[in-house]
Amino acid sequence: MSVHFRKLALIGIGLIGSSIALAARRQGLVEVISIATRKQETLDEARDLALGDIYTLDAAEAVRGADLVILCTPVGAYESVIAAIAPALAPGAIISDVGSVKGHVVKALSPHIPVGVSFIPGHPIAGTEHSGPSAGFAELFAGRWCVLTPSDEVEPPQTEKLAGFWRAMGSQVEIMNAAHHDMVLAITSHIPHLIAYNIVGTVADLEATTQSEVIKFSASGFRDFTRIAASDPVMWRDIFLTNRDAVLEMLGRFSEDLSALQRSVRMGDGPALEAMFTRTRAIRRSIISAGQETAAPDFGRPHEATPLPEPAAIREHGGGDDA
Ligand code: NAP
Repeated sequence: MSVHFRKLALIGIGLIGSSIALAARRQGLVEVISIATRKQETLDEARDLALGDIYTLDAAEAVRGADLVILCTPVGAYESVIAAIAPALAPGAIISDVGSVKGHVVKALSPHIPVGVSFIPGHPIAGTEHSGPSAGFAELFAGRWCVLTPSDEVEPPQTEKLAGFWRAMGSQVEIMNAAHHDMVLAITSHIPHLIAYNIVGTVADLEATTQSEVIKFSASGFRDFTRIAASDPVMWRDIFLTNRDAVLEMLGRFSEDLSALQRSVRMGDGPALEAMFTRTRAIRRSIISAGQETAAPDFGRPHEATPLPEPAAIREHGGGDDA
């Protein structure tokens, strides 16, 4: 089956939209890429980066004649975007998205989809903490999963064509229903982000001296939370507003487990702590063997880039007898 599209319209051209543009072009999956976004400066940046062929602030104009339309804005913008583009969608087109939640997206978009247009929501499980058109790169989806959540009304060949498009950009594709997607992502992505936002927020509220020490000694663990907590505020606001039920369900389970851990610490229950940490270490190993993480120590950070002090300097200033 052909995975080739004549005209791809990307609405929103940040990290994900620009990565799709670069990957689709590199892999020869589309003839024409049209790009629409909200701000003139973002559109100019996309044009300077040569991400597409047509650039417009008018989303309806961008989708006219497109056989594949992918929404790449924050989820909170979807309803206004679909209201603008629905009348311009071409019969036979596929409309998809990359939003990190799916139940809300199905509810918000389905009533607007014209007859003859296939709506196949999607979510590439790939990203970084960077945003905007210059953050994208063609390899972003390579080796990563992309979940598609088509409804029963969509013709299977249309879903297969979109799945082929994602596979050609390097993804592995899984089809599931939207509610199941939201539950799985709540625990694998949304709760970890909430925890990171919370721990970094706690540090932000500490008094200045303690805070500067946290930053100084951050390599002991804290800095790994800060990468996640640097993710785009608007995108993550929308995720928690639109996946509330699944997040609260998983947060309840998380809080129960945290209370159990708290009790083990309070009771000095070493065996319970050790048993728990042994189970969690096994999870990390299985993520590495599934090819979703590097096995290199410290996330592969290049330690050799930090030079050791010269021996002469140690003799002058340290190596000491100050114990
Ligand atoms: P991003 O880098 O912040 O880009 C968002 C884009 O949407 C920008 O081009 C922005 O344009 C445009 N936009 C924002 N509000 C808009 C509106 N009201 N109307 C039209 N355009 C609007 O975001 P991203 O990281 O690519 O995320 C985009 C989507 O991908 C989100 O739905 C997110 O849930 C999903 N996703 C993200 C990741 C990740 O790790 N980042 C991973 C998987 C899925 P202007 O500058 O013109 O406003």
